[in-house]
Amino acid sequence: MRTVTEKYKLRRYIKLRHQVVGAWWKEDQGQWHLQIRDLEKDEVFSDYADFFILGYGIVNFWEWPKIQGLHDFKGPYMHSAAYDESFDATGKTIALVGGGSSGIQILPEIRKVAKKVYHYAKTPNWCAPVDFGASELIKRGKIAEGNFNYSEEEKELFTKDPKVLHDHRLEVEESLATFMFPKA
Ligand SMILES: Cc1cc2nc3c(=O)[nH]c(=O)nc-3n(C[C@H](O)[C@H](O)[C@H](O)COP(=O)(O)OP(=O)(O)OC[C@H]3O[C@@H](n4cnc5c(N)ncnc54)[C@H](O)[C@@H]3O)c2cc1C
Repeated sequence: MRTVTEKYKLRRYIKLRHQVVGAWWKEDQGQWHLQIRDLEKDEVFSDYADFFILGYGIVNFWEWPKIQGLHDFKGPYMHSAAYDESFDATGKTIALVGGGSSGIQILPEIRKVAKKVYHYAKTPNWCAPVDFGASELIKRGKIAEGNFNYSEEEKELFTKDPKVLHDHRLEVEESLATFMFPKA
């Protein structure tokens, strides 16, 4: 994100540590009236906007699950939504609760270094390779690795011929948009 921000000189448009606490459409002005809290200064001020686009997410207001005794645990514990990146799993015995998309990504990484990992899952999950990704991985002989990089030749072709890039993007888009709901 930093790289994109720097490349396109976006920093001057971004206000960090600012929370929108209210928004009203002002019919007489034809503008949105916003109330914004500067979290550093703990001050609320007004601002106005012609357009108001909500991108405030739906899963960033996370909560601890109601597990009895959870907060009495004496060792370090964390929620995947607030993962402590300074935590070193090396040589530790770890309990990982949950086998959703976060759990299944955390498990293979910590098991490489942890002494022991207990993984608790209430219900089993389905893990399926996504259509486009899977077919590309098979084509490239990389299915076991689970990721691939575009080759320099491919990048050159995408740069030289925008139609090739465009068609490829459409292919990715269609595959991702339809893999859960296959076309009849
Ligand atoms: C633990 C966890 C693991 C996930 N793992 C994956 C994964 O592996 N793969 C995947 O594809 N997706 C994953 N997701 C889902 C993915 O993170 C979200 O779908 C994605 O981040 C949504 O993007 P967004 O821009 O809509 O919202 P967010 O990324 O949530 O961004 C919303 C932003 O708005 C800000 N904001 C909220 N309210 C206000 C306000 N009043 N004023 C100002 N700013 C505000 C927040 O601070 C935040 O920065 C995961 C989510 C969680 C919680």
